Amino acid sequence: MSKERLLTCIVCPRGCQMRVLLSDEGKVESVEGNFCKRGVTYANDECTNPKRTVTSTVRCKSGEVVSVKTDRTVPKGMMFEVMAEINGTVAEDNLKIGDVIIENVCNTGANVVATSNTK
Ligand code: SF4
Repeated sequence: MSKERLLTCIVCPRGCQMRVLLSDEGKVESVEGNFCKRGVTYANDECTNPKRTVTSTVRCKSGEVVSVKTDRTVPKGMMFEVMAEINGTVAEDNLKIGDVIIENVCNTGANVVATSNTK
């Protein structure tokens, strides 16, 4: 028997409300309510391997705090490990937007990069 899941696509600001039917094995059988094909891809990813971009802050050696994010999405189930590595990091000073602060965080293939400049 199929299960139904209601999802809001977060790929673009349109925010389509989608109705997703899943098989007993959790595979996506159908998607309704998506305006474009990216919604189907999002529904598949969200139902089988959800991922998120992680945003946070890192303290620099000087004590200044810089905002950071992962430069690609990471598995949702690894967000706590990624946050723990970010929280345990002290960055160099003199950072610019885009500077890599942690390479390949938790072996996810994503880098943690600065999203603001230090003063
Ligand atoms: S389904 Fe397409 S149009 Fe709708 S929110 Fe997703 S990306 Fe945007």
